[in-house]
Amino acid sequence: MRNNIAVMYIILICVLTACSISAKRSKKVISNSVMLLCSSLLIPVIGNFFIIISESEVLSQVGYYLYFIGVDFMIVFLMNFAKVYCRTGEVKHKEPKVLYVLFLIDIIQLLLNIFTNHAFVLEKLEVDEMAYYNFIPYIGLNLHRILVYVVLACIVAIFTVMTVKMPKVYRWRYAVILIAILVVALWQSLYVVARIPVNTSMIGYGVFGICIFYFSLIYRPHRFLDRMLTDIVSDMPEALYVFDPNKKCLWVNEEAMKFSDIDIQEFDLVNERLRNTFGDLSSDKAYKQNRVIGSGSDMRYYNIENRIVKDESDALTGYVFSIRDTTEEQLQMKRDIYNAIHDSLTGLYTYEYLCERIQEKLKNNISEKYCLIFLEINNFKLVNDLFSKSFGDHALKVVAEKIRGMASDNCLYGRLSGVDFGILVPESEFSEKELEKLLSQFVVSDGNFEYHLLVHLGVYKVTEDDGDVQLMFDRAQLALSTIAGEYKTHVAYYNDELRRKLHWDQHISAQLDEAIKERQLCPYLQPIVDTDGKVVGAEALVRWINPVDGFMPPGKFIPVFERNGMIVEVDRYMWRCACEILSEWKKNGTDKFISVNISPKDFFIIDVAAEIISLVKEFDIEPAKLRIEITETVMMNDVEERMEVLSDLRAAGFIVEMDDFGSGYSSLNMLKDMPVDVLKIDMKFLSSTEDEVRAKKIIRNIIRLSNDLDIMSLTEGVETEAQFRMLAEMNCNMFQGYYFAKPMPVADFEEFLKNSS
Ligand code: C2E
Ligand code: CA
Ligand code: CA
Repeated sequence: MRNNIAVMYIILICVLTACSISAKRSKKVISNSVMLLCSSLLIPVIGNFFIIISESEVLSQVGYYLYFIGVDFMIVFLMNFAKVYCRTGEVKHKEPKVLYVLFLIDIIQLLLNIFTNHAFVLEKLEVDEMAYYNFIPYIGLNLHRILVYVVLACIVAIFTVMTVKMPKVYRWRYAVILIAILVVALWQSLYVVARIPVNTSMIGYGVFGICIFYFSLIYRPHRFLDRMLTDIVSDMPEALYVFDPNKKCLWVNEEAMKFSDIDIQEFDLVNERLRNTFGDLSSDKAYKQNRVIGSGSDMRYYNIENRIVKDESDALTGYVFSIRDTTEEQLQMKRDIYNAIHDSLTGLYTYEYLCERIQEKLKNNISEKYCLIFLEINNFKLVNDLFSKSFGDHALKVVAEKIRGMASDNCLYGRLSGVDFGILVPESEFSEKELEKLLSQFVVSDGNFEYHLLVHLGVYKVTEDDGDVQLMFDRAQLALSTIAGEYKTHVAYYNDELRRKLHWDQHISAQLDEAIKERQLCPYLQPIVDTDGKVVGAEALVRWINPVDGFMPPGKFIPVFERNGMIVEVDRYMWRCACEILSEWKKNGTDKFISVNISPKDFFIIDVAAEIISLVKEFDIEPAKLRIEITETVMMNDVEERMEVLSDLRAAGFIVEMDDFGSGYSSLNMLKDMPVDVLKIDMKFLSSTEDEVRAKKIIRNIIRLSNDLDIMSLTEGVETEAQFRMLAEMNCNMFQGYYFAKPMPVADFEEFLKNSS
């Protein structure tokens, strides 16, 4: 029996050595602790081997020391193994330093036994007819055993906790080792309790080491992995088919069964079913392709992939074929793309996308000449307010439809924003005449309501140097701004003249504040005389003495400021200047009035009456000395309100003059209701009339009518003595014109007054 056990120990020693070497070579985290554990197991196994083969007391003694001390090492390294093996996540356990010290003390006290015999002594027995040395334990050995059992119990506890705590699928990892430790511990205990002389429990330790090596480094839970993989694959959204190297179907997942309409037993039908749907797909090569099957609303999109599976030795083991239905994704993608580049109301391109497409088209058709059109619906707010938002939407759709209907394939068009559309059209297909005709009678109807939409087009002719589409649209829009609100003209072109004009507008607008501050703007006075030719007053007319652009008559800047509203700044300044002069005149006894101009825009922006009244108060001048010149256009909007302002001014003592009478929209009929004191008739407005006799008649009648209505008459633009005589004869009350004097600086005017008196 001893020989058999010896042979087993030899085998164990070899296997454990092999395990140690193999563990050392392995690169797993756990490898090192497995290597240490297997190596440490070698010591007690070798010790026991000596004990079993020896007939000499000395060799047995060496064997026992190796055995007991080896067990200490083994327990320490088992602890170390447990620490690494049971580590979960990133948590690192502390080194059990106290235990190391305890085991060191234990080893020392065991070695001291050589001199003290406090741990064990040997007794000679006969086993298998040979001498065998058994040990008799004393206190030292019992302390050693207690230490070993306590630590072993701790390790058992650790593995028990892990076994219970871990999810079911991982539990076996801990359970296997727990069982191994328990078996070994029981086997060992059997010898301790029964005191059987020949201890074979070391075989258990050896096997235990091999088990640990196997389970922690070699074993892979194939069944578990298989099950997990099968579950994953079965639930995959793509249809999966596994074929052997002869293209015979071995397995399909749920999705594939559904897709090919087969049962679990019907794998043989797979090839035929796939061929019916996709044609021949079999190939010995790996590939990926997208397929579209069917047409119209039945169209379906598939991603098809053929993968080749090979084993470690590169031999073909089969094919995995997958089909993924991407129809939903594709349709969604198409919808997303469509929505991103189309306006939701009209279905036309969005601004950004239209610009992109135009850019592309211009680049690819350099030889073709194009017009870029900015289309705007005028006063669309009115449409929404008058009818309803849904009528407004309908109108926009009608416009979009009209554009779509008229545009050829060579055109591009889109909705730029709310009421603005953009169109790129080859110059050869663009007909202004046709468009003017169409837009002059562009009526939208929804069955209930009809409305004449006022649509304007700004046209920019694309040149070769143009690159930025947005800039071109800006220019087309600028062209459009020149006809904003016009009912007769619907098409305007952008040209260099317009650009120069716009540039000029910006140039002078930027300078106005500074000009006012530095008094570059100054009032010129043009005398107004009575029938005797005596100066009774003057009209203040603005001049701009610009340090760069030189002397500027109002015609160069007044229209610009009237458009952008900055006229208010000019007029306020001029009123103040007039008040300053009148205040001076009051002091030096010059009893003349000054007429100031009030732009129609002023009434929109400020409270004209309040401002002027506060000015005369500030300068303490008689209101009648500051005459107010308004034009007929003031009366074109909010008539009641404007009349009230004029009445307020008259009530405050101002004299209100109607400037440029006859040149605008007013009618003689209106005159009787108008709260004005003076009618300024412009000679110029009649000068183009060929029939002089007729012109004279008109003037005569205007003057007569104003006399009847107790309104003073003033004719301006009097250039000749003959004109003066004629007008005087017609009973005109006052006169203004080059015949008497041109507008002049204040100092010159004062000089003129002195001379004329
Ligand atoms: P307006 O108010 O009708 O002023 C009369 C214009 O006729 C003045 O031109 C004056 O110089 C010119 N004029 C006077 N007598 C004759 C004549 O015998 N023959 C000819 N051909 N022209 C004569 P001006 O100073 O160039 O002003 C032009 C327009 O600018 C003014 O027309 C007025 O509408 C506007 N304006 C001038 N100053 C101001 C201002 O301070 N505020 C506002 N809002 N507009 C102003
Ligand atoms: Ca005037
Ligand atoms: Ca005038």
